[in-house]
Amino acid sequence: MSTAAPKVGFVSLGCPKALVDSERILTQLRTDGYQVVPTYEDADVVVVNTCGFIDEAKAESLEAIGEAVEANGRVIVTGCLGVESAAIQQAHPRVLAVTGPQQYEAVVGAVHEHAPMTRAHDPFTDLVPPQGIKLTPRHYAYLKISEGCNHRCSFCIIPSMRGDLVSRPAGDVLAEAERLVQAGVQELLVISQDTSAYGVDTRYRTSFWNGRPVKTRMTELCEALGTLGVWVRLHYVYPYPHVDELIPLMNEGRVLPYLDIPFQHASPEVLKRMRRPAASEKTLERVQRWRRDCPDLAIRSTFIVGFPGETEADFEQLLEFLEAAELDRVGCFTYSPVEGAAANALDGEVPEALKAERLERFMETQARISARRLQQKVGRTLEVLVDEAGVDGGAVARSYADAPEIDGLVYVDAPYPLEEGRRYRVDVTDADDHDLWASINPDQ
Ligand code: SF4
Repeated sequence: MSTAAPKVGFVSLGCPKALVDSERILTQLRTDGYQVVPTYEDADVVVVNTCGFIDEAKAESLEAIGEAVEANGRVIVTGCLGVESAAIQQAHPRVLAVTGPQQYEAVVGAVHEHAPMTRAHDPFTDLVPPQGIKLTPRHYAYLKISEGCNHRCSFCIIPSMRGDLVSRPAGDVLAEAERLVQAGVQELLVISQDTSAYGVDTRYRTSFWNGRPVKTRMTELCEALGTLGVWVRLHYVYPYPHVDELIPLMNEGRVLPYLDIPFQHASPEVLKRMRRPAASEKTLERVQRWRRDCPDLAIRSTFIVGFPGETEADFEQLLEFLEAAELDRVGCFTYSPVEGAAANALDGEVPEALKAERLERFMETQARISARRLQQKVGRTLEVLVDEAGVDGGAVARSYADAPEIDGLVYVDAPYPLEEGRRYRVDVTDADDHDLWASINPDQ
């Protein structure tokens, strides 16, 4: 009998939420004694964690499955596209098993079935680091606080794939955050489908962390995370009134003055057709009040242009909103229909050429705003976190206003080597449309 542990290859596609799922699956497989290998050829079985959010992501997932089947032949599919098991089996009949999103046990069970352990797990040789296996660099980690979503945006099929909101008890989230920090994580990125709704499903039930009661609610969770001494960054927050409670925490330095709010549009008509949450709140007033109370606040958002029925007037309203809200970081997509989404039944399709033209005008406006906001930082001293240290000194880093992968960067000049995952004070010397340049501050 072979004594080598079976080897698993892993392909992770999709959004940060899918990445957290991948980390959990990998942690469990390592705990069970499997070896994780980086190539198809070395693997006894390959797991593909898929994304099914939009049609392009589906196509990419199907292609990745095909590639794994061809290179290895023994493939297990999991993740969002897993809900369409018939389509996967039809495209790739040789796939061994298909499981859906968050079915950690099912996918791990499938691995055990198709690549059984030939020796008992040895806790001394198969040690898993206490923080689990991270697919992100060691100094930042995603912290998933809930699954699913209670909204029904007309362009989105996530609720039908992932179900209604289920919040993790605050005590569990905090225990995980503490383990990550003990393992060296310097930045926690809080993610969910709707962070401001955290705990609604449990009626904000009180749970316990280190013997202290903590409510399963956004503000209380943030207060507690703020005691860990690391950067806490909030993603997918909707502009509900209780988000105001976060502003004092930002001013006190307990969470980063950064909010990722997926506005998607600014015209009330379009928002209504999109069935967006918090669409009726007085969003612009709220944003301006936050800015008055916390001038450093960086706001990131995403938008869709060319949604069915979007008129020139709607689009201009969107541009006006951008100017007035002075959003720091923005992503924009042209609308494309997603199979199974309610928006497909809407009339008023916007021609592709017009969508592209609006996207271009949108991005031009945003680049101007972003450049103006960044220019205001020149001459200031900021704290940055180093992502990549240069060989001869200097580094690529990020400030509080930059989430990894999606926002800008700070290029730091230093006469000595900087350390990855460490925070430094830097003096900002220059800016372009999206990034900053800085030199290391003599007082560290
Ligand atoms: S808030 Fe809307 S877009 Fe976001 S997951 Fe829920 S239904 Fe989808």
